[in-house]
Amino acid sequence: MKKMDRILLRFSEENVEEPITAQVILELGIPIRIVTATIDSHGGDILVEVPAVHVEEIVKAFRDKGVVVTFPKLIDVDCDKCFDCGACYALCPVDAISFDEDYSVVFDEKTCIGSPCGLCVNACPARAIRLVEQHSRNQK
Ligand code: SF4
Ligand code: SF4
Repeated sequence: MKKMDRILLRFSEENVEEPITAQVILELGIPIRIVTATIDSHGGDILVEVPAVHVEEIVKAFRDKGVVVTFPKLIDVDCDKCFDCGACYALCPVDAISFDEDYSVVFDEKTCIGSPCGLCVNACPARAIRLVEQHSRNQK
């Protein structure tokens, strides 16, 4: 499976009306998957997933068009510490946390939005969840 990186695109009031994401996709011919978008006429954020081999050129293309680009941290769950209490479950805004048939807690890392959120991290009484840099987690 193709390795993907996540990048957070921050649009300002000045550039939010421009079709910048579509322009970058057309110019580079590289697919970009939108994970979440919190945006209105005053600006906002779009979290996207891009092929890791193309991340540098994609970041440059957005920055050249005035978009602020950052690399969000992603969650890393220590299953040995988790005792399936469910305290994290109700907080997740994107339903990335669920219960398995045996009532163990399961994290869907593809749905989790990472450091723009991080609500589950502080909620965990066992300190089982951390936010880590993408590349340190990808190397595991
Ligand atoms: S960081 Fe946020 S989105 Fe990700 S699992 Fe935790 S609560 Fe859900
Ligand atoms: S809050 Fe922590 S211990 Fe409780 S289910 Fe979530 S990860 Fe596991």
